[in-house]
Parts: sequence; structure tokens; C-alpha cells
Amino acid sequence: YELAFKDARQMMTETVNLLETQAILHNVIIEFHAGDKPLWVMGVENQLKQVFINVIKNAIEAMQNGGVVKISMSHDEDGTVNIRIQDQGSGISKEQLSKIGQPFYTTKDKGTGLGLMVTYKIVDNHKGQITAESEIGTGTTFIIRLPYYEQPI
Ligand code: ADP
Ligand code: MG
Repeated sequence: YELAFKDARQMMTETVNLLETQAILHNVIIEFHAGDKPLWVMGVENQLKQVFINVIKNAIEAMQNGGVVKISMSHDEDGTVNIRIQDQGSGISKEQLSKIGQPFYTTKDKGTGLGLMVTYKIVDNHKGQITAESEIGTGTTFIIRLPYYEQPI
């Protein structure tokens, strides 16, 4: 597990490419906006990519009839890299929202209920934060914040 300076934008680009086929199979279009500047974070590449994969996969799976997943990234004034992954899926009720991330909590026939647990743990280990905003029938937005690092020399 190698801790290193990583460009979150680059990692997200690679993750989106990886999930493109799966998105198409679900009639989902992934829209990705991240500007043109590198977004430096400090972390373990495979773990951070796993976070992106888990959240984007959930977004795809939440849209039974397809739709758009919007991903945007920015360097915010509070010194964080802000990553938003927004879907147009089923949404999550208030009651469910308090349960997601608990081990084995799933509402899917073949779900494991482990994806978000792992995701929360990795984000926490990277001194980041993850929150979800959701409305039934409208969709869900996951927001991940990771500390921004000045460009390594
Ligand atoms: P799994 O995907 O195996 O069910 P996760 O830990 O990834 O396990 O997710 C747990 C549960 O959280 C899901 O079963 C689903 O009910 C809910 N969930 C997560 N992301 C979304 C989303 N984008 N839209 C709707 N529900 C979601
Ligand atoms: Mg999942």
C-alpha cells in the first residue's frame, strides 16, 4: 500500500473509463466535469479508485431505467478536493440513509452491503469526509471531500 501524491482527476478519469461498459449496459451516461487542473490528494491509488468505483456502481444500479450520472470535481476554498457523484435513481429514504454503510445492509437481491462500509473506511483513513443527499424518486448525490495538497515538486 503505497501512500503517494495522486491526481484525483486522473484517478477518476481512469475509473470512469473502467466503468463505461457497465454504464452502457444499464443505459447510463456518465458525464464527467473536472476542469483542467490536477487535483492533488495524498493517498493509496487503488483504495481511492475503489471508493470511486463503489459509489459510481451504486449510482448506476440505482437507475433501473437508465439515466445520467453526473460527476464533478473541484478544488474548494476550504482546502479540499470536492467530488460530487449525482444520480437520477430511486433515491434513499431518511430511514435507509441512517443504515447505509453498516456491514451487510443492502436492499438489492444480490447485494453484499459491503461497498459503502469499505468506502467510508477508506475515506476516513484518508482524513476525508463523505456525505449523501437524497430524495426519493429524484436521485442521490454522494459528496466526497479529501484534503488538497499543493503540487508536489
Ligand atoms: P450493495 O451495493 O451491495 O447493496 P452498498 O454498501 O454499496 O451495498 O450499498 C448499500 C445500500 O445503500 C444499497 O443496497 C442501496 O440500498 C443503498 N444505496 C447506495 N447508493 C445508492 C444510490 N446511489 N441510490 C440509491 N440507493 C443507494
Ligand atoms: Mg454497492
